[in-house]
Amino acid sequence: MELKEVIKARTLEEVLDVLDEKGEKAKVIAGGTDLVIQLREGKVNPEVLVDISDVAELCFIKETGDFIEIGAATRFVNIKESPVIGKPFKGLQEAAGHVGSPQIRNLGTVGGNICNASPAADTVPALLALDAVAVIKSKQGTREMPLEDIYIDRGKVKLEPQEILYAVKFLKPQPGQGLGFVKLGLRKALAISTISLAVFVERGENEVIKNIRIGSGALSRFPVREREVEDFVKGKKMDNTVIEEAAEVFGQVLEKRLATRPPVEKDFKPYAIKGVFKEALNKAWQRTK
Ligand SMILES: Cc1cc2nc3c(=O)[nH]c(=O)nc-3n(C[C@H](O)[C@H](O)[C@H](O)COP(=O)(O)OP(=O)(O)OC[C@H]3O[C@@H](n4cnc5c(N)ncnc54)[C@H](O)[C@@H]3O)c2cc1C
Repeated sequence: MELKEVIKARTLEEVLDVLDEKGEKAKVIAGGTDLVIQLREGKVNPEVLVDISDVAELCFIKETGDFIEIGAATRFVNIKESPVIGKPFKGLQEAAGHVGSPQIRNLGTVGGNICNASPAADTVPALLALDAVAVIKSKQGTREMPLEDIYIDRGKVKLEPQEILYAVKFLKPQPGQGLGFVKLGLRKALAISTISLAVFVERGENEVIKNIRIGSGALSRFPVREREVEDFVKGKKMDNTVIEEAAEVFGQVLEKRLATRPPVEKDFKPYAIKGVFKEALNKAWQRTK
């Protein structure tokens, strides 16, 4: 298909109308930081681009009942600076602050980060650790699914051509909860993650880790929850022995998962994850206080 039209949408209704009419011929563009490269390389060939970057209904960070909700076209810079997210979940803001460069953070959106379905998407591990829910809209209505379930494979999400990711939402922080985020890149600036990791913890009585959720980036074909490690840690008392043992478990999980990957991954990541995990867990734990 040849690109024939770029529609600068002003309202959500307009976006949904175009997607409904054009179906597979149309593609949503938000910040364009991923899509423009794919268009140039001929990896995607839409006939119509629907630009959602100025649709105010998709750019928000707000409290809705028990949830914090972030509109899909919200830029990283706005997440990084938002007073709504709150100190315990600062890990999400750190994840947004680690994306690319200031230019990329001024353009790139959380919805684009999710829907591009790159294994190395930095905000997704944090959202997975927060057990976020994807809110999806089309002319037919609204549906929700756990963010974790939106991924089919690298570069593929479970959205119909007529649908748009409208927002992501997660429960507001409660006392005793915290989120830590750590990114390992090859350079400080503009580094695509070699590992990104977010750890959510909930402190119980007597320093027990009542709940833990771990979201990882660049360790699978798309960002995932690390349930084997979660199951090992949950219910144990937080001390150095548990941290060290859990880090070993994480290393073993990755040794198996990455066994057929090139040496740079299969040798480096199972080793590197141990330090990354310990740092992210400690950050999260500090924020529970
Ligand atoms: C130099 C450079 C450095 C980068 N560094 C990082 C980094 O460190 N960490 C990182 O995570 N990423 C990085 N990226 C990737 C990119 O910036 C992010 O993935 C960004 O979040 C994409 O958002 P966008 O708004 O630009 O998406 P776009 O490029 O506009 O869209 C990406 C994809 O998502 C779809 N899409 C967008 N919004 C929606 C929606 N609401 N509903 C349905 N589909 C939608 C589009 O159709 C397209 O398929 C980098 C990119 C560049 C060019």
